[in-house]
Amino acid sequence: MSNIVVIGAGIAGISSALSLQRSLPHAKITILAEKFSPHLTSDIAAGYWMPYLVSFPQPDLLNRICRDTFEYISSLVKKEDAGAMWQSGYDVSREEREVPHWASLVKGFRRLSQEELDGFGGGYKSGHFFTTLALEPTTYIAYATREFLSKGGMIRQGRVKSLHELTAEFDTIINCSGLGARDLVGDDQVSPIRGQVLRVRAPRVKHFFCDGDYYCLLNSNFVVVGGTHDEGEWDTRVNEETARKIMEENVKRIPELKGAEIISHHVGLRPFRTSLRIEKETIRNAEGRETTVIHNYGHGGSGITLFWGCARRVVELLDIERSHL
Ligand SMILES: Cc1cc2nc3c(=O)[nH]c(=O)nc-3n(C[C@H](O)[C@H](O)[C@H](O)COP(=O)(O)OP(=O)(O)OC[C@H]3O[C@@H](n4cnc5c(N)ncnc54)[C@H](O)[C@@H]3O)c2cc1C
Repeated sequence: MSNIVVIGAGIAGISSALSLQRSLPHAKITILAEKFSPHLTSDIAAGYWMPYLVSFPQPDLLNRICRDTFEYISSLVKKEDAGAMWQSGYDVSREEREVPHWASLVKGFRRLSQEELDGFGGGYKSGHFFTTLALEPTTYIAYATREFLSKGGMIRQGRVKSLHELTAEFDTIINCSGLGARDLVGDDQVSPIRGQVLRVRAPRVKHFFCDGDYYCLLNSNFVVVGGTHDEGEWDTRVNEETARKIMEENVKRIPELKGAEIISHHVGLRPFRTSLRIEKETIRNAEGRETTVIHNYGHGGSGITLFWGCARRVVELLDIERSHL
């Protein structure tokens, strides 16, 4: 029987564990993580399905990963405790932009007229209206964890210093350590893109809005107002001046936000990598014994957009027959 350890309990870790469990019902699967939800980067995400701040040089595979995730989130909408929902809104830009590769996946994708763009102020030149999916990460991680535990999955707390310390106990390691991969496997291609956001109560806001700098994304109990994308910045303290500017700029674009009650402030570090790492490696211990490692990290600002496609890819990389996927 396979004895598999998944490092990381964020959206990448729990989903990889679940996907493996569904394909290998007899395997022993343990999630091993230093920290758990709701204290993770995954919990800070608004959870919108929209590729953003991610790099991957294989467009066909990336499209498949995006599609698999979109279809999976769509299947979760009917489960009331999974945190999935459809959301409609505006994605605008000050540049002329081509139709994105994912336009055919989302619903009702249409180009905005100049009159609609002018309605936001800000000198926008192009933009689209569409309906996409949102998956509230904290709710989903709790849902996925319940399923994982109910099917015999195990969870353990601990910090892993080196993959080699796991090779005596496990035959397969799935590395979903996000930004932690920088230390864990010495990967200096991984770096943070800091994001600061506010959660506010704004019941008059009915559509999401995003212009690449500022955004306003709806969850069921609050609206996430953002944000920053500070490359290479590790500071997780809330900057009050930044928070004030984020609110001010969003109110200029979405007047319904005016007077919104601030619930909380958050800062998260997006685990960016020069290329998303979803690949297999074999490591050897001092006695020459081989252990399979599948890396699944570096999702940047798209961890919720990619998580299920990546989790399926983990299974595929373990050479489990496609018919089981
Ligand atoms: C402000 C903000 C908004 C965002 N909005 C969106 C959005 O709308 N849509 C979207 O798709 N994405 C969004 N993202 C991106 C998304 O949050 C991330 O891509 C995603 O959460 C990464 O998930 P992860 O599981 O890889 O990492 P994490 O959630 O960081 O989990 C990493 C796990 O690994 C564990 N770990 C690390 N190192 C070790 C170690 N050495 N030993 C043991 N355990 C270890 C940690 O304890 C943790 O359990 C947003 C991010 C931010 C900051």
